[in-house]
Amino acid sequence: MATARRSSRTAACSSTPLRAIAPGEELGYDYEIGRDKDDPPNVDEIYACRCGSPKCRGSMLEAAPKKKAAKLKPSRKPRRRKPQEGSPEHAQ
Ligand SMILES: [Zn+2]
Repeated sequence: MATARRSSRTAACSSTPLRAIAPGEELGYDYEIGRDKDDPPNVDEIYACRCGSPKCRGSMLEAAPKKKAAKLKPSRKPRRRKPQEGSPEHAQ
């Protein structure tokens, strides 16, 4: 899945609905706009979402990182290494 980034460029975009959409039904879209280190402190205010959905995060930005983690590491999703020792298929 692609993550929306803030950009002034126009990009082609397509979406595939996961369910039937009724004629005239209002569609919501979670932009999950990426956060940057130089975002202003009120960035959540600027990008506040007022869609009114009960599932709404209240922001067009991606979910906020935990406040304790002030220093963001380049890789936000730590990968777990699978244990590679003792794989029986390659035992000689
Ligand atoms: Zn919303």
